[in-house]
Amino acid sequence: MIFDEKSTVDLLRQLVNIPSPSGYTNQIMEFIGAYLHNLGIAYKKTHKGAIIAKVDGQNGSAHRLLTAHTDTLGAMVKEIKASGRLKLSMIGGFKWNAVEGEYCTIHTADGQKIRGTILLHETTVHVYNQPDTIKRDENHIEVRIDEKCSSAQDVRNIGIEVGDFVSFDPRFEATDSGFIKSRHLDDKASTALLLQMLKTIKENNIALPNTTHFYISNNEEIGYGGNSNIPEEVVEYIAVDMGAIGDGQNSDEFTVSICAKDSSGPYHYNLTRHLVKLAKQYGIDYKLDIYPNYSSDVSAAIRAGFDVKHALFGPGIEASHAYERTHVDSLNATAQLLYAYVTSSMDSEE
Ligand SMILES: [Zn+2]
Repeated sequence: MIFDEKSTVDLLRQLVNIPSPSGYTNQIMEFIGAYLHNLGIAYKKTHKGAIIAKVDGQNGSAHRLLTAHTDTLGAMVKEIKASGRLKLSMIGGFKWNAVEGEYCTIHTADGQKIRGTILLHETTVHVYNQPDTIKRDENHIEVRIDEKCSSAQDVRNIGIEVGDFVSFDPRFEATDSGFIKSRHLDDKASTALLLQMLKTIKENNIALPNTTHFYISNNEEIGYGGNSNIPEEVVEYIAVDMGAIGDGQNSDEFTVSICAKDSSGPYHYNLTRHLVKLAKQYGIDYKLDIYPNYSSDVSAAIRAGFDVKHALFGPGIEASHAYERTHVDSLNATAQLLYAYVTSSMDSEE
């Protein structure tokens, strides 16, 4: 079975519930290492903390590489206020209103997980006159800590310090109608699909035409996840990452989105056509699209100077970097295209 809905959704639920803002990904990478270990798949860890697993194929000289990233948006304690609340510094690109009201966890240096809520300072309508006109920025958004803290010293006394990571609650929900609502579907949905595909390949002894690397990166949201440690033999490099949905966009929550161009420029023409051809051949629902404010680990690799053919596809994610949602149909279509691609012959020059 190429797409096992239940185990994919279960794995995705586990992944989004492990906090992993860029820079704080040890726990999730340990989880992924254990997952691969249980499947009997060897992997190596890069100094930057990414994991690369290799599956040997019939052609050992022209390799493929697929990547998905596990790091997410998050924040760091910027300042401890005299009131006992915290100012935040953002990790990754989002708007403050996308986290206003969200529950969060502060990860202290001594390993505590202290709970809190991200709020506009002037939230209370019974006190402040016009909270709707106040700009949501780092000066007005703060963390209310769920401990008895009313001074900066109180906060320090419980172990919180500047530089502590702050993660946002994912609020994962899988509805009966097939929608998956959660933060961090970007890009844990694709990570779950890559891990599931490795499981399918391993358990069914599927022979791949080309040696294929599976690169689980952990620095994409800050721009340099998959731009190093690319084996010399890699010819084709695919980023499996979210399709962007919005006004004027072709992508949706029910198909696999294939990216023709993003902010970094067009993706490799022949490799992109190869993906479209596979989607047509296997009857996979797909949408070709352009993502206006977007770049990926594979565009980072191209910028870093790697001579590879690059392409990008993935599930359509609604309200990205905020209250994200997709549908199992989109996960299914992405899983089908992933499988069609890794088992196809390397003919993108056609
Ligand atoms: Zn992403």
